[in-house]
Amino acid sequence: MARPITSYGQGVLHRPCTPVTSFDAMLAALVEDMFASMYAAQGVGLAANQIGVGLRVFVYDCPDASGGRRSGHVVNPVLRIPAALAAPETELEGCLSVPGQHAEVTRPGLATVTGADVRGRAITVTGTGTLARCLQHESDHLDGIVYLDRLPAAERAAILTEAGLSAERPGRPA
Ligand SMILES: [Zn+2]
Repeated sequence: MARPITSYGQGVLHRPCTPVTSFDAMLAALVEDMFASMYAAQGVGLAANQIGVGLRVFVYDCPDASGGRRSGHVVNPVLRIPAALAAPETELEGCLSVPGQHAEVTRPGLATVTGADVRGRAITVTGTGTLARCLQHESDHLDGIVYLDRLPAAERAAILTEAGLSAERPGRPA
């Protein structure tokens, strides 16, 4: 079932999320709701705190650099950037928690996430292109970082104003 998406400024988006310790039916239901919420909002990735749940889980459904569609979920993700191979790429990036807005963000073009699936089995996801960006964007969310936080303050403020959101966020001067 799709749930409402949290907006920039709501506390749960600006705090690090808690590791998952119970790989139970509630976790499976959360992942199902996250996919439903992502698709309902026409997103390509979603972190649990974007539906108000402060747990370290994200889902994704987006192309990699080859154009192939990749989708899945990761519980307790740990992001690794293989520095020698990950040439930076600058692309427009958006976020369901900052509706209707996009900004150029430079990120490494290759990323790997290790973690677990809903049953607790170890998984590894390696992405290029949009998927590399998505893995980094969603990992940021679970650390309480929204992509706007990586932009200069003036640009962030302008985008939030355009989105009709306050530039104030908990624990940080606007
Ligand atoms: Zn986002």
